[in-house]
Amino acid sequence: MAKFKGIINKLIITVIFSMVSVCSLAANGAKKVLLVGVDGTQYERVMALNTPAFDRFNIIKAYTGGVAGNKSEQRTVSGPGWTTILTGVWKNKHGVESNSDGLASSSWPSIYRYLHDANSQLKLYGFSTWGPIHTQFFANDMAFLSSRAEGGSDDDNVQRTLNVLYHDSPDFIFLHLDEPDAAGHSHGFGHEYDESIIRSDHRLGLLLDAVEHREQTFGENWLVLVTTDHGRDFMGKGHGSQTKQEKTIFIASNKPLNKNYQDIIALPNKSFGGIYGWPAQTYIVPTILNFFGVMSDIHWRLDGLPLIGDINVNRIYANIGGKKCGLEWDVNTASPATIGMNEHVAKFDCDGHADPLFIKGNKIYANIFNSGCTLQWDVDKGTPLTLEESEHVAKFDCTDYGDPLQIKNQQITSYIDDQLCGFQWDADAGTPITLGRNEHVAKFDCQGSPDQLIIE
Ligand SMILES: [Zn+2]
Repeated sequence: MAKFKGIINKLIITVIFSMVSVCSLAANGAKKVLLVGVDGTQYERVMALNTPAFDRFNIIKAYTGGVAGNKSEQRTVSGPGWTTILTGVWKNKHGVESNSDGLASSSWPSIYRYLHDANSQLKLYGFSTWGPIHTQFFANDMAFLSSRAEGGSDDDNVQRTLNVLYHDSPDFIFLHLDEPDAAGHSHGFGHEYDESIIRSDHRLGLLLDAVEHREQTFGENWLVLVTTDHGRDFMGKGHGSQTKQEKTIFIASNKPLNKNYQDIIALPNKSFGGIYGWPAQTYIVPTILNFFGVMSDIHWRLDGLPLIGDINVNRIYANIGGKKCGLEWDVNTASPATIGMNEHVAKFDCDGHADPLFIKGNKIYANIFNSGCTLQWDVDKGTPLTLEESEHVAKFDCTDYGDPLQIKNQQITSYIDDQLCGFQWDADAGTPITLGRNEHVAKFDCQGSPDQLIIE
């Protein structure tokens, strides 16, 4: 039946297409995005099955559920998952912990809101078989949509999307499909589940055909991303826990993806078969923003990085005793410099390595365990990290905005209580901040001048 329906869809499309007058072929290359989410789709089953539409994409493994044991950890269920997909941040920022939660935090906008704020003329659409995405978490953003739907069947919502693609001039469409999740809950892994993926693949093919026709007809430049909110447990019926299979998702793109993201997220954490070496669900929003060219400095606070377009990485070094020492954030567990799960002491490590950073405007950002963190000086009171009065330990804070810095002539300064304080590495002997022999805690000293750095 589903296959038959697909054929009918194709006939309808053919008829529609013969009616569409091929108007302006002016290849303006206008950028457009279709984001398709297929709920509860196990990456390994997509890989194992014959899925010709998925084969038209570049598909990479990715993960959900945040980083286990970190502040970003979240249940591998739909509420937190879709909220992360549409905001680019984890639960500790967006605040949605379960399927029954209400609005996501207004501090972390959805992709609908980012695009509307960037250009209120953009035509945005959202069709979601699982309604709560629209009616609960992003209810305040629905006014931005030119047309929307919640509930109904996957075929209904694919048809709505095809109608928009063939009859309208959309800039961004989010489409949520639910069949694999429902099949998994009812039957676990097996024939029914596999069939639901094959039907989803067929729907993807119809969507991709429609997008490619638009590109050929109107000269538009479409980014199509496909992802899922979570994997499934051993039997395929349930999900929600921190297991490799439930954390495994995918990101598929009709365009080639960045190659350098894997250098940036090289993590010491090898849990879950090294899944943290892959991009996360948080990469979707930065990727879309960067593709549209509306990624601004502040978006480097998001918990993911763009998979499309260049990521210009900065590294900062200091010459300490004739050695080139790199600015890093990866304090070893059990070191005396652990501030809290959201705060990472900044240090210069003289082993020759430096962590990738992003210098944007007057801030320095780091992606730490796929959390967006910013360089700061205001260590909370009561931590063991107080140096003398004039010295403030530098840290990367993964929840706060970061302190405004002046970065010029290879030096960094910041105003602390109206005093100009210089970024340095030379913690005084006898402070409690001595890390290993090779490591020097970074600090802002309000009585000394900034150290000369090498910013690459
Ligand atoms: Zn489910």
